[in-house]
Formats: sequence, C-alpha cells, structure tokens
Amino acid sequence: MPLPRGGAYNAGTMATDTVEQLHAEALRGLAEAADARALDAWRIEILGRKGRLTSVLRGLAELSIDERRSVGAAANALKAELEAAFDERAEELRRASFAATLASDRIDVTLPARPHRRGGLHPVTQMTERILDAFRSMGFSVVEGPEVELDYYNFEALRIPADHPARDMWDTLWVDETVDGRRPLLLRTHTSPAQIRTMEQQQPPIRVAVPGKAYRFEATDTTHEWQMTQIEVLAVDEGLSMAHLKGTLLELMRRLFGRERQVRLQCSYFPFVEPGAEVAVDCFVCSGAGCHTCHQTGWIEMMGAGMVHPEIIESMGFDSARYTGFAAGMGVERLAMQAFGVDDIRYFYQNDLRLLQQF
Ligand SMILES: [Zn+2]
Repeated sequence: MPLPRGGAYNAGTMATDTVEQLHAEALRGLAEAADARALDAWRIEILGRKGRLTSVLRGLAELSIDERRSVGAAANALKAELEAAFDERAEELRRASFAATLASDRIDVTLPARPHRRGGLHPVTQMTERILDAFRSMGFSVVEGPEVELDYYNFEALRIPADHPARDMWDTLWVDETVDGRRPLLLRTHTSPAQIRTMEQQQPPIRVAVPGKAYRFEATDTTHEWQMTQIEVLAVDEGLSMAHLKGTLLELMRRLFGRERQVRLQCSYFPFVEPGAEVAVDCFVCSGAGCHTCHQTGWIEMMGAGMVHPEIIESMGFDSARYTGFAAGMGVERLAMQAFGVDDIRYFYQNDLRLLQQF
C-alpha cells in the first residue's frame, strides 16, 4: 500500500493505518538487514529526511487536531522505537562482523606445519658414496678420469688393440672430434682407463678407487643402460695376490650387504687381467638356497676383477717380478638395485619422483 505523501485522501485513517503498517514493515526490514550496507539503506528508507516515517510526520499537518494528537503520538513513539531498534541492530551487526573477522583471521597454532619439500641424494650417488667410503677406510684414495677418452687409454693400453676380438665386449660410442689432433676419441666404455692414467703418474704402492660414468652403445633392458656408473679399483704393490683381491672385495660386500656375506670368484676373461674373475656374492635374499632374485643359483654376479696383467705392469715401467696388482670394476647401478630392491636399472634415470622420493 502506498504511503501518504500528502494530498487529497483521508489522511486520518490512512495515517493511523500507515503508522501500524510502517511499524511492522520497518521492524521486519530491520531484522532482514544482514550487513552495514543493508542497514544504511534501511535507515535512509525509513528514518531518512525523505524517508517513510518522515513522510508520516509531515502528513500530520493535514489532520484535524484530535487526529493529529493520536496519530502524532503514535508516530513519535514509532520514531523513538525504530531509532532504538536501529541502534540495537547496528550494534548486533557490528558484533557479528567483529566475530566473523576474529574467526576468519584466527591463527590455529595447533595445526601441523606445511611440510618443506626436501631434496635428497640420488640412490646411485648414495651407493657410490657407500662404496667409496668402504674403499677409503681400506686405504684407497679416490681419483677421477675423463669421460671422453682416447682409444689408447680405453683399449690399447689395456691390451685391447684395434683388431682384438675382445673389443666386441664393449659396444663403443665414438666421438667425431680430435684432441690435439689425436684420435680416435670415444666415450669411455669403462673406468678402467684410470688404471693406466694412475700408473703413469704414481709409483707403487698404489691404491685408488675411480668412480665415474661409462657409456655403451647397447639396447636397454632391466639390467642394461647405455649410461652407467662404474667404480674401478686398482692396487699395485709388492706381493699382492688373488687372496688380497678376494679379501678386499669380501670386506666391501660385507660392508654393503652385511657381515654374513660370502664372496665367490669364478674364472673369467678380461684382456687386462690375468687371471680374471667374475665376482659373485651369495644371495642376500635366500642366503644361497636359491630364489627368484638370484635365478635359483644362490649367487649374484657383482663385478669383474683379476690380477693386473704383467704386460701392463711392465708397460708402465714397473718390474713385474717385483710388483703385482689387482683390479676390479663394478657397476654401481647393479649394486644399488640389490641394496635398495630396485628391479629395473632404467628406473634410476627416468627422474620419476615416485622412486626418487623413497631415498
Ligand atoms: Zn637368492
């Protein structure tokens, strides 16, 4: 119903009805005003200079004296009531808003902290360090050599000349460049060239461990990658024998895989050692009884090793009647697979966080 704005109507009846109507509507509107903006809109609509209550009060002038008295009293009482109700509602809203701010800004010190993402060493790096630590504790020093190597160090000086059938054992990645006009260059197929480089520079007694990457041109499968990490070990001294080799490797395996491990040397062939051996450790899953991991043999092949060939000792300028040496080369990834229970060598180089985060 339109409110009286003055004019030709029965102002007395309308005004009284309007006071009652305005009373109900205004209180309902006030209760519905949910925030400061709505409250302000209500104030302007009802109590403002051109508001509905003001219009009612202005309309009083057109009433008779009696009507003016009764309607005026009611309108004034309504004004006082609405102003008080407005103040009360404003206080209510202010408190609610304050409480909401407190709730939303609250810092809960009992919440667990967001975890920091921490990096870690790659499992192959960890394994490399464990192996090198073991050799360091046995008196070996750690040296490194170049990954791009001369054919001379990678093959020839290790008794593998160009026409030697043993070259088939290493599928080689050749480099189409030269250094100081010297070629051929290749990506080293093993870390054994460091044997020659070390013996060129050091006199016996020599004890070195050489970690580094090696590369082979071959198809990948669960145990083969075209890039691998090797550690080469070389010892040259008076009176060294296969017993020293076996003792050294046994100590290494026990440090890596437990005190109860056994090491087995089996006759094998590498051109730069004589005799040569494949080194196996008894299976740490079944302790030699035979299982899936060791292909039911009870042993796991770990590395190649042997006594440094006397011709190499001589070619380095040492008396092979006085000095002997042993050497071993191991693939760190294969050892890491055993130590960490990783069943595919390719996982190490896929940068898959699901694997890497476990280390
Ligand atoms: Zn086994």
